[in-house]
Amino acid sequence: MTILPLIPTSPDTPDAVVTRRRPAMPPRHLADLDLAGRRAAVTDLGEPAFRAKQLSTHYFGRLVRDPAAMTDLPAASRARLAEDLLPTLLTPQREMACDDGATRKTLWRLHDDAMVESVLMGYPDRITACVSSQAGCGMACPFCATGQAGLTRNLSVAEIVDQVVYLAGVAASGAVTGSPPRLSRVVFMGMGEPMANYPRVIQAVRRLVAPAPEGLGLSQRHITVSTVGLVPAMRRLITEELSVTLALSLHAPDDDLRDELVPVNQRWKVAEVLDAAFDYAAQTGRRISIEYALIRDVNDQPWRADLLGRLLHGKLAHVNLIPLNPTPGSKWDASPKPVEREFVRRLREAGVATTVRDTRGREIDGACGQLAASELTVVDAGGATADAEVER
Ligand code: SAH
Repeated sequence: MTILPLIPTSPDTPDAVVTRRRPAMPPRHLADLDLAGRRAAVTDLGEPAFRAKQLSTHYFGRLVRDPAAMTDLPAASRARLAEDLLPTLLTPQREMACDDGATRKTLWRLHDDAMVESVLMGYPDRITACVSSQAGCGMACPFCATGQAGLTRNLSVAEIVDQVVYLAGVAASGAVTGSPPRLSRVVFMGMGEPMANYPRVIQAVRRLVAPAPEGLGLSQRHITVSTVGLVPAMRRLITEELSVTLALSLHAPDDDLRDELVPVNQRWKVAEVLDAAFDYAAQTGRRISIEYALIRDVNDQPWRADLLGRLLHGKLAHVNLIPLNPTPGSKWDASPKPVEREFVRRLREAGVATTVRDTRGREIDGACGQLAASELTVVDAGGATADAEVER
């Protein structure tokens, strides 16, 4: 890849010159800052420092972002504070629901017209938000819809956090029928590779777990960060003293096949990536989750189940098998159920805890690996409709 020089832009720079500039990050938002940073920001505006806590309580504690509703702030300050610290980062472009309203996908437009998606999944005992860490993804896994379009840009800390805060508001409104109104879990399994946007993802996690009003007060154990296996970033994660759950998208137990399914394996091999994951488990005491999309006649052979079983036997790990969600134009399909059952049986026989993931959101292209915002916009322009779809 060629790194292009950064071209300074000015109002009179011809368009042709600026087309290749670095993607513009969004305006600063209070979720980009810790409480001390927010205090500094409000005093810079000539407001007393305690306004930082008031604003934070609205945003993180009450999930309120409309300045008009912030009646404890002087009317004269509200607009200025909101403009400076609560700029609109995500505009919901389209919202779709399926599974009787228990799964909802939101397509967001960002300030620079980049698009990302998040998915909210309601269960009888919990609500989980699946969020994006990048617009697009640069990892190029051939079975993943997001991977096909390439990377647009990293999301900012606040763009990540704001997806969760917004979805927590949807949950609190009672919109997810049959589930408690509190969003309690977050998985970084939307668009993007979290470990490729490392500092921002870590900051976002810190904001999500900080007690209100500094953050959203979620439990670290209820946050899952999923990675293709960027070993240096995984090793750095071990030093953060966080106890989030680490998911490793393995998909093959042997380098030959993993080199193809997860191209970054050409750089960091199965043994190395598993070592880093096991070290994370040892450091945190948290069981790692090995993600394995079962692809018919590609990675679902009994010998691969046995090999995976040997690699994981006795380790603090469990396997989460994902029936492949076929993506448009892909030559691959999910494994037949009997093959899947045999794969599970062999892993369990090897003493490895194994579950098969449910396939939420398939009809709205909101299931694992189906997120591809650019394609969705094309469909949108064509005016396609789905039964349970909510247009905004
Ligand atoms: N880049 C991170 C985060 C994306 S998470 C990662 O790869 O872990 C999305 C999860 O869904 C990953 O485990 C990914 O491998 C898996 N996935 C991608 N495409 C899929 C598909 N078509 N069917 C089933 N799972 C898929």
